[in-house]
Amino acid sequence: MLPGRGRDDRTARLPRVVGTRTAWTPIGDGEFFCPGCGGDRNYQRLTGRRRLTVLGVPVLPRGESAPTVECAACRGHYGTEILDHPTTTRFSAMLRDAVHTVALAVLTAGGTSSRTALETAAVAVRAAGFEDCTEERLSALVEAVEADTGRIHGEPCVPGLAIELHEALDPLAPHLAAPGRESILLTGARIALADGPYTPAERDALATVGAALTLPSADVSRLLHSAGTPS
Ligand SMILES: [Zn+2]
Repeated sequence: MLPGRGRDDRTARLPRVVGTRTAWTPIGDGEFFCPGCGGDRNYQRLTGRRRLTVLGVPVLPRGESAPTVECAACRGHYGTEILDHPTTTRFSAMLRDAVHTVALAVLTAGGTSSRTALETAAVAVRAAGFEDCTEERLSALVEAVEADTGRIHGEPCVPGLAIELHEALDPLAPHLAAPGRESILLTGARIALADGPYTPAERDALATVGAALTLPSADVSRLLHSAGTPS
């Protein structure tokens, strides 16, 4: 009853008579970024059982297929590793949080006394997607961070802020090409430079930003230097 080796060779020459069909069973769903139709889509997670078919009729089990993700829109099938990529919505939120956290870290390092630094930070944070961000709100947040950490103006980057920076930037870094990561660092640099040259605390905060964005420290130094040099 079981087909032998010779029979298998024949099946290859007779694909229309003998083939393999996979019966898919949904085991979960969610939202993902579909590279096939290019957007945030619903997906179904499928587990498949393959069967040998003769004239389209399943006759013999052929084992399990690897778990698969099917796009609800284009019906494209992908390996489950596709779910490691953030959706566009999630990616935008990560980017927005990153800029907000970098702005807070740099402002906390430099102190809130400077109106120009607050204005530069608020413009950057609004551009990143927090449309109702104001100078007053940022100022209040920085004061809250300072009160929370018992921090005195001018101290190096406090451990709490370094953790916040890593939490906001670590998950984003693998999904952002180098120019995107550099652009976040440069946003921080512009905020630091708005009220004059970098202070040691601002440099320290920006070095933490660069490290969390997995930028080589030589690149961080070069970028910070070029941002501080009028062209
Ligand atoms: Zn699709």
